[in-house]
Amino acid sequence: MTPVVELRQVTKTYPGGVTALHSVSLTIEAGELVAVVGPSGSGKSTLLHMMGTLDRPSDGTVLIGGRDVARLSDRRLSGLRARRIGFVFQAFHLAPGVTALGNVADGLLYTGLLAGRRREMAREALERVGLGHRVTHRPHELSGGERQRVAIARAVAGRPELLLADEPTGNLDSASGAGVLDLLRELASGGTTVVLITHDRDIAATLPRQVRMHDGQIVHDGAASLEVTR
Ligand code: ADP
Repeated sequence: MTPVVELRQVTKTYPGGVTALHSVSLTIEAGELVAVVGPSGSGKSTLLHMMGTLDRPSDGTVLIGGRDVARLSDRRLSGLRARRIGFVFQAFHLAPGVTALGNVADGLLYTGLLAGRRREMAREALERVGLGHRVTHRPHELSGGERQRVAIARAVAGRPELLLADEPTGNLDSASGAGVLDLLRELASGGTTVVLITHDRDIAATLPRQVRMHDGQIVHDGAASLEVTR
């Protein structure tokens, strides 16, 4: 099967001269649940940005569903990103004063679907993350864990193949963090490919695949228990 995302010898040098990724190659198959770990500044977020097509590499190739993103115009690339990739961030990024349903439905504006259908899909997504009883709540009326669930519902409402999460449990207490992790696991077992950056070694150790970064390179890729360093 075509991998969901593939990086071939991707190098990223930022304006100013920092090379955040050095010829990184990585293949992620459908339905995988992958933790990206490593010290601050090791290139984790840059890696996630490359997988999410939020930024273009300086060198090398990024393939999403087998398609070389360098060959797509900006317009086609944003279309592909909107349909295929969901994003979750540490800081939730929900619109204040807007209900959970509204926040999730607004994430579907790109689909061009009518408002009624967007709300239906948003409601289904909120039910999937266990928040069917909180649809009219606004962000300030929700706990941190619930806010992150709304953000996850927004990310998966359009049923993207790939969910990219940058420290999704970073702002949560350990019980809420564990709940969010269970949810990500559920989504992965339902077929969504999930890649998450985490500082938390305990979380990473429980995931089936760990990609460990150091100085812009992958220094370990495999099961957490098999410490094969290369
Ligand atoms: P991590 O997510 O592991 O903390 P990052 O990918 O954010 O690592 O950063 C890797 C390196 O690239 C760091 O040295 C960082 O300072 C640098 N960097 C990240 N983003 C930018 C940017 N937009 N412009 C310049 N340098 C950046």
